[in-house]
Amino acid sequence: MANKVLEEIPVLIVGGGIVGLSAGLFLHHHEVPFIQIERNPDVSPLPRARGFSARTLELLRSVELQERIEAVARTAWKQGKFGGARRGASLLTSESLPLADITKLHALADPSPCELTACPQTIVERVLRNALAERGGDVRFGWELLRFEQHDERVTTTVRDSAGMERRIQASYVFAADGGRSEIRRSLGIDRYGIEPNCHYINIFFEADLTEQVAGRTFSQCEISNEHVSGLFLAMNNTTQWSFHLTYDPASDHPEKWPDERLVHLVKAAIGADVAVKIHASSPWNTRVRVADRYREERIFLIGDAAHVMPPWGGFNANTGIADAHNLAWKIARVLKGEDSSSLLDTYETERRPVANRNGEQAWLRTDFNARFQIRSDDNADFFDRLTDYGELQMRYRYGANDTVDMLCAQPGTRFPHAWIEHKGQRRSTLDLLGTSFTSIIGPTAVRPDEDIVFRAGTDFRFVDEAVSWNSLTGLPDDGVLSIRPDGFVVF
Ligand SMILES: Cc1cc2nc3c(=O)[nH]c(=O)nc-3n(C[C@H](O)[C@H](O)[C@H](O)COP(=O)(O)OP(=O)(O)OC[C@H]3O[C@@H](n4cnc5c(N)ncnc54)[C@H](O)[C@@H]3O)c2cc1C
Repeated sequence: MANKVLEEIPVLIVGGGIVGLSAGLFLHHHEVPFIQIERNPDVSPLPRARGFSARTLELLRSVELQERIEAVARTAWKQGKFGGARRGASLLTSESLPLADITKLHALADPSPCELTACPQTIVERVLRNALAERGGDVRFGWELLRFEQHDERVTTTVRDSAGMERRIQASYVFAADGGRSEIRRSLGIDRYGIEPNCHYINIFFEADLTEQVAGRTFSQCEISNEHVSGLFLAMNNTTQWSFHLTYDPASDHPEKWPDERLVHLVKAAIGADVAVKIHASSPWNTRVRVADRYREERIFLIGDAAHVMPPWGGFNANTGIADAHNLAWKIARVLKGEDSSSLLDTYETERRPVANRNGEQAWLRTDFNARFQIRSDDNADFFDRLTDYGELQMRYRYGANDTVDMLCAQPGTRFPHAWIEHKGQRRSTLDLLGTSFTSIIGPTAVRPDEDIVFRAGTDFRFVDEAVSWNSLTGLPDDGVLSIRPDGFVVF
């Protein structure tokens, strides 16, 4: 019978995409009970993100998943490596862009225990889903949110379970991780603003054995333009799995309605050879930037694509969304445990929305293929000269001031800097000292603060690299004291 079953839970996560699944892992880390519902029966088969930033890997390291992600990433590329760009009339005749070297794009990488890790989103999502299941996370695939009402103390939702039965779930808070077309955001009447799209694509995920054709010339992106077709190949495993992003003009064309045979024909024209092509899935997208006007409506929080969408260039969107989830999880945990007032939750929007705005603009500027691969020309100078580096965008943002810093040096509002340390006989990162509570990290001669968790440089840990000291890492004198939030940011 409809609405018969009623469950109560501190947090309901709506959406089991990469951001929703990350939110589940972060809430589990903070021991916050949650239910997660995902409309689809399984994780999405559509390959999208392939680059996970060092900061994202740090967040996954904090929930003990860094090694697992790195392990699956090592097996994701069946030949060659990830990276590089090519351009031409067809994939077969394309030529390499000499400057398109991913290591150069990330040359300014900030010290981190992690690295940019290339792995298709489809594989990463499965790792996250499995980890949640192993840890006892209540994740329900095939369940859909139908409607919700907000009350003073809770949100009452009606959901449809995987057997088609309507149920009710009452939650203290709801995380709307329901993607770019978020029905929750629309129901709340939250508008978005941003930058209009300058390109429209159909993402065609297909299988074709191109092992021989790309042997010794693998790439991350290959831009194609000929008289029949223009678009972009993105490599998914460098042998059999690919996506082709077909460029189209929405004013005159509707390729989302075209039969697969027509798409196959165009993919072959882009490859430049009559190879067997099997389409797995296709879906339209465009290069618009949209950021929600508000990230919070009382007890409901928008995270990930529900809060912001941006072009994939630079690989910012999923990474930004995972960091949203990380920022929100510890705050919700503290408020639910009575350790902080609910006003702490307002800082989720004030901290994360400026990051999405900045990343969205930078992603949009990278729509120009040359600019994306560090090639400046007269044509793209307007875009190129406004680009900022990846480390600044993904690692060096400063909450509070809502700007970025040149170098992480324990400035208030920034991510505490990484250095390798020896702690309890083990080689660890300074970031590994941080747990689920506030942590004090203090200089060698500082007066010990009256806090539960305190680490003194030189006593509780020592720096492995002799060139690194408390002063060089933090810019503070020996009696300096720092308080670090559970998400690794220096209290400001
Ligand atoms: C071609 C392409 C390439 C990309 N490359 C990159 C990249 O390199 N790096 C990067 O960082 N990002 C990239 N992105 C962006 C990235 O894929 C998205 O930012 C990411 O998938 C967003 O995750 P999400 O969990 O917020 O939303 P989604 O992945 O959209 O997940 C939302 C989920 O919510 C579910 N849902 C919706 N409504 C309901 C409901 N009522 N009840 C239950 N469940 C519901 C949906 O079924 C869906 O599974 C790319 C995107 C595209 C299109």
